[in-house]
Amino acid sequence: VSLQQVVGIDLGGTKALAGVVTTDGQVHSRVYISSRDQEPEELLDNLAQVARDAAKEANVPWEEIDAVGMGIPGTLDLTRSIVGIAPNLNWHQLAAKAELQTRLGVPVFLENDVRSAALGEHRYGAGRGARSMIAVFVGTGVGGGLIVNGQLYHGARGGAGEIGHVVVLADGPECGCGQRGCVEALSARTALSRYVADAVEAGEQTVLSERVEGGVQMLTSRDIAQAVASNDRVAKKALAHSAHYLGLAIGSLVNAFDPDVIVLGGGVVEAGGAPILDSVLGDDAGLLGAALTGIEGLAAAATA
Ligand SMILES: [Zn+2]
Repeated sequence: VSLQQVVGIDLGGTKALAGVVTTDGQVHSRVYISSRDQEPEELLDNLAQVARDAAKEANVPWEEIDAVGMGIPGTLDLTRSIVGIAPNLNWHQLAAKAELQTRLGVPVFLENDVRSAALGEHRYGAGRGARSMIAVFVGTGVGGGLIVNGQLYHGARGGAGEIGHVVVLADGPECGCGQRGCVEALSARTALSRYVADAVEAGEQTVLSERVEGGVQMLTSRDIAQAVASNDRVAKKALAHSAHYLGLAIGSLVNAFDPDVIVLGGGVVEAGGAPILDSVLGDDAGLLGAALTGIEGLAAAATA
């Protein structure tokens, strides 16, 4: 039996990564393009092109590609065909599945990008073999995904897994979603940066003061990791503050779901070290998850 070959596309707000992935989880090519400042039609054309380029790079004739799976930084309808809103791409109610299928001539399957990273960690990474899993990724925001009975859990309207908007501090800082006290508003990189900026304002000494001078600037995960490694007190306090609220959110989820494993990933987690299972796929989680969306989409279509 020959392995199925799919193209996975991990589409982000600034760049997209496409690669040929086989059913055994091997990545055979990697091609990046910018996804910035493009009209939807133009970006769809470029995504179709990068899928073909990824096949060419892996020396696979396009006719031998079985499907394309793509992770999207936005919301999807229940059939996962229409992108409801992808704010960083300026996509609204876009029939991305049909648009790409027309351009590529193979079945296309879509998944939310964070959910697809959770799927990648479950099938090929830290959560392999677990029946139930909670994945939490902490970077610019906080996102996640739930695996229930071995499958990605989508919920009644497709919105399950929005772990970042679990409220952990009543009347806490305002979140991008409009609520107050979401774990994203207390634990993500933005919150960490603000914590450090406040400390500098209050006269505390830190190696990060230059980075946050003149208002809140976004610290990179590398800034935080370096400061923590040099035993910087403010950086360590900021990380502990972030971890405290993240712990509250995860603790509540554990009580509600009783999962086999919890996988923690994302730049902020990598900067601090994690008490639970570290994600093992890093940047490949999104690509592998997108590819899996294609592989599992094909399998589901075959049994339907
Ligand atoms: Zn929120």
